[in-house]
Amino acid sequence: MNATMPLTMPPGWDQLDQSDLQAVLRFAVKQFHPKLALASSFGLEDVALIHALLQVTPDARVFALDTGRLPEETYECAEAIRQRYGINIHWYFPDSGAVERLEREKGILSFRESVENRVECCGIRKVEPLNRALADQTAWITGQRREQSVTRLSLNVLEPDGAHGGIWKFNPLAEWTLDDVWHYVRQNDIPYNTLHDAGYPSIGCAPCTRAIEPGEDQRAGRWWWETPEHKECGLHNRNNG
Ligand code: SF4
Repeated sequence: MNATMPLTMPPGWDQLDQSDLQAVLRFAVKQFHPKLALASSFGLEDVALIHALLQVTPDARVFALDTGRLPEETYECAEAIRQRYGINIHWYFPDSGAVERLEREKGILSFRESVENRVECCGIRKVEPLNRALADQTAWITGQRREQSVTRLSLNVLEPDGAHGGIWKFNPLAEWTLDDVWHYVRQNDIPYNTLHDAGYPSIGCAPCTRAIEPGEDQRAGRWWWETPEHKECGLHNRNNG
């Protein structure tokens, strides 16, 4: 698909109840499976979506990015999910040569020195592997929600993703609150990342994630040394052309 080609919404989308999670996932599967993939960082939203999507199709493709800097709790959660649902998780790793060059030239904590350095590290460890993960897909599913941060306020449940060649991106939880997600996870007894119980609503790489204080923004613990409008890693650039 061409990145500059305008996309019209798939037939039937406008009639769909976009607040109905199962209906949105059924629509996604009907339209795009098997060229449909769910991106998981094993945060609360992602484990909820894995559970829901597997109810629709047991052979759903779930992929994850192993940046090399993930917290141990994330691996534990990934394994618990793999065991519980009996699925293969399609892990993608960064290019080893690019990581070696970065760490030799700038050290292993370069991302703390400037936004540019942080974006460079995310580019190598996340964005490039994501591009490979999506290269053969027509649509993907993410756990993004509007209330997570100022960068996600205009999120739609379905939107064209011009940053990845004009494919489609489903954000089925766009309108959900964090309480909604917790309710769903508890109701279905879904394994979740234990860091959530330690004050981490949003979990990324270990050195770039901390617990938040009561009343702080849900993504305040991500790259906490940066201002809120910079807090995206490049996985969700809103280039919807
Ligand atoms: S979150 Fe931090 S460690 Fe992970 S890729 Fe981005 S800058 Fe690098």
